[in-house]
Amino acid sequence: MPTPDPAAPSADRPPVSPVAVRRWVCCHCGGTGLTGDGATCPHCHGHGHD
Ligand SMILES: [Zn+2]
Ligand SMILES: [Zn+2]
Repeated sequence: MPTPDPAAPSADRPPVSPVAVRRWVCCHCGGTGLTGDGATCPHCHGHGHD
């Protein structure tokens, strides 16, 4: 049977990195921070992510 690697990242504790912040984007604006008409996205407040 395979031995679990203690160095492997677990699903509930992903490694933290600047790139990780960009893994998910706002479901409303798709990460632009703006709505279709150019206004600040009310869901992410212009951040581009939830
Ligand atoms: Zn969203
Ligand atoms: Zn948004």
